[in-house]
Amino acid sequence: MKRKAAVIGATGSIGCQTADVLYANSDRFETVLLTAHEHSSELECMAGRLKAKRWGLTSTTPLSALLDIDIDIAVIAASGSSATRDIYELAKRGITLAIANKESIVMAGKFITAAAKQSGGVILPVDSEHSAIFQCLKGNDQKYVSRLVLTASGGAFRSFSPAELKDVTVKQAIEHPNWKMGKKISVDSATMMNKGLELIEASCLFDIPPDKLDVVIHPESLIHSFVAFTDSSVLAQAALADMRIPIAYALGYPDRIDSCAKEVDFTIPFNLTFHPPEKGRYPCFELAKAALIAGRQADIIALNAANDIAVSAFLTNRIGFTMIKPVVEKILMREYNLYSEPNNIDEVLDIDRSVRSHAAEVLEKFLQKSFELESL
Ligand code: NDP
Ligand code: MG
Repeated sequence: MKRKAAVIGATGSIGCQTADVLYANSDRFETVLLTAHEHSSELECMAGRLKAKRWGLTSTTPLSALLDIDIDIAVIAASGSSATRDIYELAKRGITLAIANKESIVMAGKFITAAAKQSGGVILPVDSEHSAIFQCLKGNDQKYVSRLVLTASGGAFRSFSPAELKDVTVKQAIEHPNWKMGKKISVDSATMMNKGLELIEASCLFDIPPDKLDVVIHPESLIHSFVAFTDSSVLAQAALADMRIPIAYALGYPDRIDSCAKEVDFTIPFNLTFHPPEKGRYPCFELAKAALIAGRQADIIALNAANDIAVSAFLTNRIGFTMIKPVVEKILMREYNLYSEPNNIDEVLDIDRSVRSHAAEVLEKFLQKSFELESL
């Protein structure tokens, strides 16, 4: 019998790549639901290709209104933090969730994984580093894990000097050297906030303390992460930088299905390089890492929201690239330690909302101040 698949956020980068995998494996999957936020023509076109039973725009129809159907597996490919409530509701229904959306795990991973556990649902990672770790952990008892090491490409500006970074444009920031991704995650990759969010995601998904998590810069993006074990062995997962591979792994799990991706070509010589992140070069990464080590979930929610606000300000040309970190920091000066730890998803979303409304004020003041300084 075919598995009934849904794709939430089907028109984006992860969504379109999921559609490729579903199409190539149409003998295994029946697409029962596709959602997008507002791009209706792209969604209709995809629905035709996949012969989807149902599709809808979440900007006009809440996801809950589209869910009166059977779903075996849902790929969560929506961007940003706004899908967090929907992901939690899907987890409560016991549906297998293939989650690409890291913001929801960063904000509410504890509550989403608990809801899935209680309903008998399974959470499968799609983020390439987390899929790599998940694959390396398979068949190994967690008690033998000594470290998880996430690889990072170093982002679009890894070879830029601090002076060059000042003038980078939105266009440059959204062109990642190795991956083709949505705008927000491309900017997060350039600042390396993405890798900080991924450390938090890994800590939650694999229940690993921060002192057992590392990051290594690997510009070729061929190794997607390492797992080190207590006997000093290290396992790695390697593949070309193509998100259809982790998507296919999650969709087919525990089988390996056609990902449509190219294989690594071992007939051509190639070198792989690794080095630790240089101190001071990636301040956003350091902010996120510090929040993870401090361990206050309310502050992690604040960090995620502050970053969303700063990245949208950059994407709409209101602040420069090097202002992203100072804006995040300015917002957090007020928000850190302001909230009690959340006890449920509603409290998570309350903190998120509150930070965003304060952040808008902070951003306006920040812009006003830079304008005044510029006019001096
Ligand atoms: P995109 O921006 O390319 O796509 C986002 C998708 O989400 C679109 O279908 C969009 O619909 C939909 N969407 C936008 N706003 C909302 C909203 N408010 N509520 C529900 N759906 C919404 O993003 P990506 O595909 O790049 O990323 C998706 C997620 O996966 C992110 O969390 C990202 O961090 C994560 N991820 C992405 C990777 C990648 O390679 N792209 C790699 C690893 C993780 P519409 O088109 O109608 O606006
Ligand atoms: Mg990743």
